[in-house]
Amino acid sequence: MKHKVIHLSAIALLLFFTTSIFSQESMKLASLKNKRVLLVYGGWEGHQPEAFAKRVNEWLQKEGAIVTLSDSLGVYTQKEIMENTDIIIQHWTMGQISKEQSNALQKAVKNGVGLAGCHGGLGDSFRNNTGYQYMIGGQFVAHPGGLINYTVKISNEKSPISKGLKSFDIKHTEQYYMHIDPKVKVLATTTFSNTYDYWIEGAVMPICWTTKFGKGNIFYLSIGHDPQDFDNYESWQLLTRGIKWVNTNH
Ligand SMILES: [Zn+2]
Repeated sequence: MKHKVIHLSAIALLLFFTTSIFSQESMKLASLKNKRVLLVYGGWEGHQPEAFAKRVNEWLQKEGAIVTLSDSLGVYTQKEIMENTDIIIQHWTMGQISKEQSNALQKAVKNGVGLAGCHGGLGDSFRNNTGYQYMIGGQFVAHPGGLINYTVKISNEKSPISKGLKSFDIKHTEQYYMHIDPKVKVLATTTFSNTYDYWIEGAVMPICWTTKFGKGNIFYLSIGHDPQDFDNYESWQLLTRGIKWVNTNH
């Protein structure tokens, strides 16, 4: 009988540890205090990369992060900076990245540097670079109707990024239609109507996700055509929590 009790306790203990491993998703987000953040911005001017960088940088300063700003992709090949970076935030729509720069960025993420960003700044960068797209987990292909109003549905209420947020409407911005990697963990979606392209009616599209590339955590949000999209409370929460998430141990 005593044997059986010990056996049952062992099972209970095992269950406890298994549960805590699986509930890690709901763990708290790490503080950005003294975290080294590299904020890289540029590419197509229509996305106002500088205004985006300014807005995010002001928040990062308040959070106590140590920020390095760069308007050049050349920073990805600067070994000393890359080896002393915890988080990379990139806002670079289209443009060209050299093989050397792309490889250096991928290497850093594979080794554990977090990567976060939004809209075309992360999900429509370097269209001719499939290695980069393999890392991000999705690629922009269209925004039917141009600037429109649409609904964002929070589909994962457990993640600390989306926890407590309600589904919301966003106005006068682009609804990204993307090609998505099946392994991403989706946190929010948007459903397409038949108003502009009738054949995509009912398509449920991920709008916010997390994924891994080697040891690195990646966060992406497709909102953000205009920096003013982040005047919306939920959009800003998703973006800023996502940035914290990539540097949280999972
Ligand atoms: Zn856009």
